[in-house]
Amino acid sequence: MPLGEFELIARFFDRGPAREALLGIGDDCALLAPVEPHNVLAVSTDMLVEGRHFFHDADPVSVGHKSLAVNLSDLAAMGARPRAFTIALALPQVDEDWLGGFCRGLFAIADRHACELVGGDTTRGPLTVCITVLGEVPPGAALRRDAAQPDDDIWVSGTLGAAALAVHDRAAGRSRETPDRAAARLDWPEPRVALGLSLRHVARAAIDLSDGLTGDLGHILDRSRVGAELDWPALPLDASLDGRPDALRRRLALAGGDDYELLFSAAPENRSAIEAIGRRLDLPLARVGRIVAGEGLRLRDARGRPLPVDAHGFDHFA
Ligand code: ADP
Ligand code: MG
Repeated sequence: MPLGEFELIARFFDRGPAREALLGIGDDCALLAPVEPHNVLAVSTDMLVEGRHFFHDADPVSVGHKSLAVNLSDLAAMGARPRAFTIALALPQVDEDWLGGFCRGLFAIADRHACELVGGDTTRGPLTVCITVLGEVPPGAALRRDAAQPDDDIWVSGTLGAAALAVHDRAAGRSRETPDRAAARLDWPEPRVALGLSLRHVARAAIDLSDGLTGDLGHILDRSRVGAELDWPALPLDASLDGRPDALRRRLALAGGDDYELLFSAAPENRSAIEAIGRRLDLPLARVGRIVAGEGLRLRDARGRPLPVDAHGFDHFA
């Protein structure tokens, strides 16, 4: 590497004395003070691989943004407050322009969420970004996948299907037809951290929508040992799907990944509290169905008739 490993870290990643950490980048470990006495640490890792999670010609600024955004999304889905992260980076070569852009995107979202980079590892290899985030949450307030109960409402934030539309068009060689807002949803996902924090003690189970609605809801159903009914007309399809064939709209909304919205269950008595949260955050929250006793996922049309749920979430090994 023309630029050595340590120069690279110093130039691009070390931004001076740590704020959140007692000791940040540069020693064998970072040191963080214990979290608030009764809180627990929430820890999550997500890896992005070129060609698998982002395209080789993707804007490095958006790759930096998305690498941390998908991790913050996991904290959001747990109701945890972000504190710090580490980054493990494999680079095929030292491309200073690429690294500069990557770090701009990375640190912009890190600063917005007050989530500090405290360490990492850097090596040569196929372009891979692996981030571990640390957050904190009072243990009883964590939004776990196993907490849904029969008769809970099912809610979804924001809109569905836009990011998957961008992927679909690209695979079909028709990216020029993708509305800008859909392309932006794919490259610049916005983790719903403020929503996750607001849902403590309001929602029961939550998950972030990374792999598609039916697959991700399926994780809650499995872990909570319950079933669900979804009302197709209630699903908040993104406006960028307007005018696309019905079968495609349904597939993108149900099985398309990369939306990074939150799906959560909550007792019906919390409806007005949840609507107030949506208004306060200026974020649409749609009530899309309910948890039922038993198992399985059923989808219903406007007249309550069953629709097929053949769409499965994205599985990286499928
Ligand atoms: P070690 O030999 O203990 O693995 P390294 O020599 O890999 O340590 O890293 C030196 C220091 O730089 C460590 O504090 C490590 O956390 C940090 N570091 C390495 N790569 C990065 C990176 N990409 N971003 C931030 N910190 C990094
Ligand atoms: Mg190392």
